[in-house]
Amino acid sequence: MTGAPHPGPGVADLATGVRAGELDPVELARTALDAADGLGTALGAFLTVDRLGAIEAARSIDRRRRAGDPLGLLAGVPVAVKDNILVRGCRCTCGSRMLERWVAPDDAAVVSALRAADAVLVGKTNLDEFAMGSSTEHSAFAVARNPWDPSRVAGGSSGGSAIAVASRIVPAALGSDTGGSVRLPAAYCGVYGLKPTYGRLSRRGLVAFASSLDQVGLFARSVEDLALLLAATAVYDPGDSTSLAQAAFTAEEFAALRGRPLRVGLVRSDLHIRTAGFSPRASAEPRPEGRGSVQTDQRLVAESADMADATTAAARRLAEAGCEVIEVEVPSPDQGVAAYYLIAAAEASANLARYDGVRYGLRRGGEGGIDDLWESTRREGFGPEVKRRIMLGTFALSAGYYDAYYDKAQRVRTVFRRQVEALLERVDALLLPTSPTTAFPLGERLDRPLSMYRADVYTVLANLTGGPALAFPAGLDGQGLPIGLQLVGRPMGEAVLLELARRHAEALGGELPAPPLHA
Ligand code: GLN
Repeated sequence: MTGAPHPGPGVADLATGVRAGELDPVELARTALDAADGLGTALGAFLTVDRLGAIEAARSIDRRRRAGDPLGLLAGVPVAVKDNILVRGCRCTCGSRMLERWVAPDDAAVVSALRAADAVLVGKTNLDEFAMGSSTEHSAFAVARNPWDPSRVAGGSSGGSAIAVASRIVPAALGSDTGGSVRLPAAYCGVYGLKPTYGRLSRRGLVAFASSLDQVGLFARSVEDLALLLAATAVYDPGDSTSLAQAAFTAEEFAALRGRPLRVGLVRSDLHIRTAGFSPRASAEPRPEGRGSVQTDQRLVAESADMADATTAAARRLAEAGCEVIEVEVPSPDQGVAAYYLIAAAEASANLARYDGVRYGLRRGGEGGIDDLWESTRREGFGPEVKRRIMLGTFALSAGYYDAYYDKAQRVRTVFRRQVEALLERVDALLLPTSPTTAFPLGERLDRPLSMYRADVYTVLANLTGGPALAFPAGLDGQGLPIGLQLVGRPMGEAVLLELARRHAEALGGELPAPPLHA
């Protein structure tokens, strides 16, 4: 890693300082709010900054400390929340004109958990509309810019949260990860991003995109901070039918893995092998085109050589730290991405049917009857990417095409899950890149949806299988942009991923470098 300017205090430091009475939570909130208003707005990271709510929460924490009440794990820590997660009394736009003025009537379960841990919520962060995208360029309100190079994307769809953490506005943030939306922006912005096991964090109050894939995820600048956030937010929620009874996570679970022998599977994929200078697999034949196949534009997004080298280097570091590393192969990532985009679009087309001009948000037309109301509202309320997904999803679910598309994608998902489960019986975690490249220039893929989708080729795996995955920073590429790699684990295996990331960070040495644009 290059020179490390002041990294900005993390979650653990701030909470300890507040509990000890050495740090004033109101001051911390003001500093974060000012940075969110200033740098955060300049980078397109925030859609709402909640000054009143944050100061009030910080004052009450301060009063309770003075009264001698014990404070929670996140005492006085400023936290940002992606704008598709409900915070009572705040707008929740989902980056869409459809919900531009819609105010959340209640807190999401994860937000209640943050409040219970005494975190201070400073604002709502920018995202691709309804979390559909990989660059945060599909937001209806602002283009998000990468703090390492503002002419490049921050990644998406939780781009605002990643920028807020990377640029030192807040030490922690929440995002959502349906196909990589926490890990991809974490990788592009040089911070840690965790997608927990499906069901470990409650989805109640997370606006639905693709319900069988959606998970709330966490951003932080160190492994220890990520573990604290997970401990605060992993709570069983009877209000979410997919919430896991054994959801809770404790610091002891993580600490218990210190020094324990762990085995890592270094993933060799086609993309990977080609660019790392190995010879391609003999069996790599071109796939037939036509019905049922999704074309990906490989020329545009070939994996960079830096990425392959960085993955090998991380494997070496883990080996030096005492882990056993073996090479494994994951079933064709291309097929995973094709299955993901069919399933996600199908579920989205059903979930987004609720925006009809009657129940939520925007209402347009109606003079010509109910059809006119629906059509006008949806035409004006949704942006082009959301419309594309709704059309694709509706088509994939329609009579006559269901078997060829939706059903086939579900079968691929099952085969994928079984193959990954079998791999994870041999190793404790898989190691692979988060994305084939580092952050790409703004606008480069906006008109090429398939090359945009290809940024997710390595992340959708964990959503399709339901297991946890952690994106971690592994240095900078030749252009000075962060390289993010990924660990994928067994369901409920978050502690293993955190311990491996901790060992990697220790072997890498030094603190996370701050981007040129930071608070
Ligand atoms: N980029 C993926 C998509 O556009 C993932 C989005 C997400 O995880 N919310 O669907």
